[in-house]
Amino acid sequence: MTTAVVVGSGPNGLAAALTLAAAGVQVRVIEAADTLGGGARSSELTLPGLIHDECSGIHPMTPDSAFAQRFDLAGAGLTWRWAPAEFAHPLDGGRGAVAVRSVAETAAGLGAGGRGWQRTFGPLTERFDTISEEFLQPVLHVPRHPLHLARFGAYAALPATLLAHRFRTPEAEALFTGVAAHAFRPLDTLLSSAMGVALTTAAHAVGWPVAEGGTAAIRDAIVRRAAEHGVRFETGRRVTSLDELGGPDLVMLDTSPAAAARIAGARMPRHVRRAYLRYRHGPGAFKVDFAVEGGVPWAHEGSRGAGTVHLGGSAAETAAAEKDVAAGRMPQRPFVLVGQQYLADKTRSAGDVHPLYAYAHVPAGFTGDATEAITARIEQFAPGFRDRIRATHVRSTTELSRYNENYVAGDIVTGANDPRQLVFRPRPALDPYATGVPGVYLCSAATPPGAGAHGMCGYNAARRALTHL
Ligand SMILES: Cc1cc2nc3c(=O)[nH]c(=O)nc-3n(C[C@H](O)[C@H](O)[C@H](O)COP(=O)(O)OP(=O)(O)OC[C@H]3O[C@@H](n4cnc5c(N)ncnc54)[C@H](O)[C@@H]3O)c2cc1C
Repeated sequence: MTTAVVVGSGPNGLAAALTLAAAGVQVRVIEAADTLGGGARSSELTLPGLIHDECSGIHPMTPDSAFAQRFDLAGAGLTWRWAPAEFAHPLDGGRGAVAVRSVAETAAGLGAGGRGWQRTFGPLTERFDTISEEFLQPVLHVPRHPLHLARFGAYAALPATLLAHRFRTPEAEALFTGVAAHAFRPLDTLLSSAMGVALTTAAHAVGWPVAEGGTAAIRDAIVRRAAEHGVRFETGRRVTSLDELGGPDLVMLDTSPAAAARIAGARMPRHVRRAYLRYRHGPGAFKVDFAVEGGVPWAHEGSRGAGTVHLGGSAAETAAAEKDVAAGRMPQRPFVLVGQQYLADKTRSAGDVHPLYAYAHVPAGFTGDATEAITARIEQFAPGFRDRIRATHVRSTTELSRYNENYVAGDIVTGANDPRQLVFRPRPALDPYATGVPGVYLCSAATPPGAGAHGMCGYNAARRALTHL
């Protein structure tokens, strides 16, 4: 019988394990941490009864992904929940903008910016299923829907600061720029719209759902399916070399490229090793989870019902903060992403005390404390917020990489989304999952289609491995 070892149990490691096991391979998963799940874990970080997402919180690309559909994760107990609005971007003075599921309704709320919003996202939303099928694969493939992909690509290729002008009002420009900032990139560079266009279109097509009971429910559903196929799990064991694995037919590495190079050692061809060691990581994140009594008193009404709230100020301020972070400078007022998952999923709160999720974009390896900067950013748009805080839990860039070594220097998206790595990650190669060592594949978010708790990197890598077998 064919055997496989999967190193790492993030959503991609688990997806690879399940995909291989479903094809009849005998699979063992080895995880360094004491709990499975990598970026898909949740726990009571602040107060008893409050469920916080430790890493991934919102999942626009997961419910309809080829992986989730093929293995019927919904049938394995995974329930999706949506907040009344998908995302919002408050500005000073109680102004701001909000995106809801309907493109038309969103556009209607954007005043003079609505026309550009409708014309950009209306056609993309109608074709989201075919477009997402294309971008959830490696870039080098024969597209089944070239025209749809070309339309997406025409917007995605633009600098976000340029595409934002299409939306004409300060509120609408800021709304788009806040989503584009998910790329952790300077927003005036080529292809910096890609993330913003993909995530905004997803918001209108499927929404930005959260998993009921916490993101760990995604892990639990995959683990349940994997166990049905006989996958075995071992936690608390960090793999340092292929030699420890007992010579399985396949090894799937849910690790950073540099860790893969270390684990494969001298067996890895030198050119691959060099490429993996040169793989670029992005800036860091500094995360603070709050227990908040009565929720956040946002001055901008639309932010009160939004699952995600982007705090960056105007489009220009957001772009300036992202530029600073990319250059290694900590901005005085960083871009902060706030997750209000509890608005979608009531099971996460304890009475009127709610778990609030927030992280700031900071320079890679930032050694300072951004807790006050994050708190002040929220207070700026929600006066009175400080008085409602009942507890906090903080994770710096160093603590994030200790929690999960794939977050190199606090890089939560497993690699810089610069133009080269957006197109060719982890290195230019016909098969991005192949490591050059026979039977050994990289399957983490350092491979296409990149970051997110969607499992598609692991699913794609396992299918490649099965084809080669
Ligand atoms: C704060 C934060 C917010 C995020 N928000 C979102 C979001 O809202 N939506 C979204 O889709 N994504 C989000 N992400 C990103 C998402 O969590 C990751 O892209 C995703 O988890 C990547 O999955 P993965 O399987 O590639 O790796 P990971 O989830 O990082 O898992 C890798 C696993 O491998 C293990 N491992 C590594 N090396 C070894 C070794 N040598 N031996 C044994 N085990 C090893 C690690 O311990 C870890 O468990 C966020 C991440 C963070 C940290």
